[in-house]
Amino acid sequence: MKYAKNILETIGNTPMVKINKLAQELPCLVLAKYETFNPGNSVKDRMALTMIEDAEADGRLKPGGTIIEGTSGNTGMGLALAAIVKGYKCVFVLSDKQSKEKMDILRAVGAEVVVCPTDVEPDDPRSYYSVSKRLAEETPNSWYVNQYDNPSNAKAHYESTGPEIWEQTSGKVTHFVVGVGTGGTISGVGKYLKEQNPDVKVWGIDTYGSVFKKYHETGIFDENEIYPYVTEGIGEDILPENVDFSIIDGFTKVTDKDAAVYTQRLAKEEGMFLGNSAGAAMKGLLQLKENFKPNDVVVVLFHDHGSRYVGKMFNNDWMKEMGYLD
Ligand code: PMP
Repeated sequence: MKYAKNILETIGNTPMVKINKLAQELPCLVLAKYETFNPGNSVKDRMALTMIEDAEADGRLKPGGTIIEGTSGNTGMGLALAAIVKGYKCVFVLSDKQSKEKMDILRAVGAEVVVCPTDVEPDDPRSYYSVSKRLAEETPNSWYVNQYDNPSNAKAHYESTGPEIWEQTSGKVTHFVVGVGTGGTISGVGKYLKEQNPDVKVWGIDTYGSVFKKYHETGIFDENEIYPYVTEGIGEDILPENVDFSIIDGFTKVTDKDAAVYTQRLAKEEGMFLGNSAGAAMKGLLQLKENFKPNDVVVVLFHDHGSRYVGKMFNNDWMKEMGYLD
C-alpha cells in the first residue's frame, strides 16, 4: 500500500505546468511551478511546516503551545494544518483588507481569527504587526512565528521548492519570476538556483504601494512609495529580513487592475484557477519580455488557489465596481 502517514507528508513535490496561450508573445518556454497542489492550496504549507519543526527543535514551541501569527491567510492555513496534526492551538491576526473567504477558511480549520485595520502605520498599536506581538506577550506558552523575519521561511524554499525546480527543469532553468511578500520564496529559491548556476536571473514582482522596487534600485526606504493597494499577498510597507536583495536581479511593478485582469485570464485561457498574486506574476513576467531569448526556460511560481478570490477578482460585479473591466 502507498499512502501518506498524515496530511503533512503530502506537502511539496508539486507539478510544473507549461503556460501556453498567455505566453505566446514570448520567444521562450514558460513553466509554472504550481503550488496549489499543496494540501492547504498554497506554497506557504512548505514554510509553515519548516518554521514549526525548527521551533520545536530548539524549544521555542512546546507541547500544547499556542501558535500566534500575523498572516494574510495562506501561512495561517499551513500553520493550522500542521497544528492540527501536531496538537497546537492557533491564533491568527489579519488585516481587514483580506478576503472574507480567507478568514472563513482559517476558522474552518480551527483557528481563532483577529481582524485589524489595514490603513494604519506598522508601529500603530492597532496594526496587525503590533496586535500579534502583544497577543504573543500576553498568551502563556505561546510562540510568535514572525514569518517576515523568521529564517526558517526562506530555508524551507532553499531546501524544497528550489531543488524541485532545478530537478524538474533538468537544470535548464534560466529565469525565476515570483511575487514578493515576506521574501521567503524568492530568497530561498533564488539562492538555491544561483548556487547551482550563477547565471540564473531572479526577478521579483512588486505592487504599486510597496517599497521593494525602489529600495532595490536605490537603497532608499522611501515612505512616498507606501499607499493602499488592492493586490493581495505581495508588496510590503516594511523590509522583511527574509528578502535577500543581493540575490534579486530586479523588480517589476504590476498595477492592481492588471493583476486582477490576469488572474481572470489565467483561469479562462489556461484553465489555471489561481490567486491574485499569480495574475500579478503572469503580467509581470510579460512586462519582462525584453529579457528573454529563444532558448530560455522561465519558471514562474504561482502561490495560491482561486477559491479564495471568488468574491473579488472572480466576481465581475466587484471587477466593474473597481473599474477593472472595460
Ligand atoms: N502570494 C500570496 C498569495 C501569498 O500569500 C504570499 C505570501 N505573503 C506571496 C505571494 C509572497 O510570498 P513570500 O511571502 O514568500 O514572498
